[in-house]
Amino acid sequence: MERKKVDVAVIGAGPVGLTAAHLLRKLGISSIVFERNPSTSFHPRGHVVNARTMEIFRQIGVEAGIGDVSLPIRQHAGIGFMTSLAGEEIGVIWTRQGGKPTPQELSSSPSLKRSCPQDEVEPVLREALERDSPADTLRFGHEITQISQQDDAVRLRWTATDNREGEVKARFVIAADGARSFVREALGIGMSGGSMGQQIGVYFKADLSHWLRERPYLLWWIYNARTTGVFISLDGRTRWTYNFAYGQEESRSDFTPERCQDIIRAAVGADDVEIDIQSIMPWRMQARVADRFEVGNVFLAGDACHPLPPTGGQGMNTGVADVHNLVWKIAQVLSGSAPRELLSTYEPERRPVGTFNVEQSKRNAEKMARSGLAGMLANDENVSSKIEGPEGGAVRERLALEIPKQREHFDYPGQNLGVAYESAIIVGDGTPPVPLTIETYTPSARPGSRAPHVWLMQGDRTMSSLDLFDYSGFTLLAGQDGRPWTDAFAAVSTRMGLRGAAYQIGAPGHPTPQDVDWLELYGLSASGAVLVRPDGHVAWRSRAAVSDPVAALEEALRVALGFTIQPATAAPGASGGTD
Ligand SMILES: Cc1cc2nc3c(=O)[nH]c(=O)nc-3n(C[C@H](O)[C@H](O)[C@H](O)COP(=O)(O)OP(=O)(O)OC[C@H]3O[C@@H](n4cnc5c(N)ncnc54)[C@H](O)[C@@H]3O)c2cc1C
Repeated sequence: MERKKVDVAVIGAGPVGLTAAHLLRKLGISSIVFERNPSTSFHPRGHVVNARTMEIFRQIGVEAGIGDVSLPIRQHAGIGFMTSLAGEEIGVIWTRQGGKPTPQELSSSPSLKRSCPQDEVEPVLREALERDSPADTLRFGHEITQISQQDDAVRLRWTATDNREGEVKARFVIAADGARSFVREALGIGMSGGSMGQQIGVYFKADLSHWLRERPYLLWWIYNARTTGVFISLDGRTRWTYNFAYGQEESRSDFTPERCQDIIRAAVGADDVEIDIQSIMPWRMQARVADRFEVGNVFLAGDACHPLPPTGGQGMNTGVADVHNLVWKIAQVLSGSAPRELLSTYEPERRPVGTFNVEQSKRNAEKMARSGLAGMLANDENVSSKIEGPEGGAVRERLALEIPKQREHFDYPGQNLGVAYESAIIVGDGTPPVPLTIETYTPSARPGSRAPHVWLMQGDRTMSSLDLFDYSGFTLLAGQDGRPWTDAFAAVSTRMGLRGAAYQIGAPGHPTPQDVDWLELYGLSASGAVLVRPDGHVAWRSRAAVSDPVAALEEALRVALGFTIQPATAAPGASGGTD
């Protein structure tokens, strides 16, 4: 039996596990990833990669690769509602007028929200990892069958598809093993929330260009007497999924390829269109949150701790942000730069975000259903049986009035970029929280917030402020009169043995802001500074100079690294396990 020892083991090579593996590799942490399937996903489930996830992908070097295989921006411009592709159009929500990024998108992030199907996202992540990682880091066809914790470490047993078995001892485990998480079950972690119905997702190829008629829609919601559901445009041409609900009286095996072809033809509105079925995936719409995100040295991430309805496209995105929050903390603890208590802030920071996204996705689904626009959520016969033809005009008019009210379901920069943490490692500065609005992102550098994006010039290079944030350490941004802060940062980080960088934005030899008053955006005077964590969230802010910047920064870093958190009474790693 093979035995191995690593610092971190990741269970699951979905988008969340693969992102965790990238972040671990970036920080040089010895790691291993186990995936029970022989390869990445064949069925394209998730597809919306929001701007925040694209920023994280930018940091790990795969933003361009994801962009290359995404739906072109010009075809990711609206959400259509219709009786069938060939039938009457009921309404549209334009998310990008004229197929161009909105001014809000362009000013708030260096990265654009994209639609990249999961069967493309995962190979991009996998191939980039395989290029740079030791050969046996990624173990496809390896299922974790046992987990136990002892002596501040986790022991995993695996079985490979060729029946080989092995054991890994890891200091920490990231369980990104999906909605039916084996690890969550094995550790006895319960879930709150419930299921919202059962669905079928059909992945198929068909040339539907005749019916697209220059309509650049990402989603096509369909309502007619034979089917209600939603088409997801994967490449804007021939790759599609169609998702629809089915009732308790039916079973997944009722949905044969022939029946699915008929359903899709009804949704297209053409009985002779060629439909080449690739896969049929039954799935369950869930809105649940795990009772705990961590037990001892095991951390749940992604769908394992918050499976949520796809209404809003938040599942993969929320999970990617989970591991972005977690991995730098693990690295600081492993290197001895931070105490174990730093890891106890993962759950307090990520649970509110996971819970909010679960609730908001559920609200989106329920609001659609209440408005008669249930679509893939359920078949509302009151609508679907009366919506077609001249006699359906009144129903279509009523629904048309409801469509604009669904905007926050499809357009939500505030929900993603406005995430702000309140925790024991955020040093409050007495300013009130910025209220979170779904559709509008309000940039803020209040401690806890994602540090805002500003375009900067360094020499002849244009970069985002986000490009200054190095995942391996803290970054200090000071105003042009903030030399005492940058000097203090150098002194304190040397004394504490920390990696990091400090910039006097706008001063000679330092990055210079373009077109924007960055001090106003960051809430600083020219003598102030912010301390940004490796994950790009503000840890601390001083609006102006102080008499002892060394003492102020040292205290801020001690808080941000968890030195001021009281140690828990129970020994870490003492609980949980299947053997
Ligand atoms: C119709 C639909 C549309 C969606 N649209 C979006 C969207 O637009 N945007 C978005 O962000 N999300 C979307 N989602 C949700 C998204 O698909 C999930 O949130 C995402 O896949 C979760 O990623 P994950 O890595 O946490 O889990 P998963 O992708 O489920 O990956 C978990 C992996 O763990 C592996 N595994 C499980 N147990 C073990 C074990 N014991 N040993 C080894 N490996 C194991 C599994 O094989 C799997 O590969 C959508 C979902 C659906 C169904």
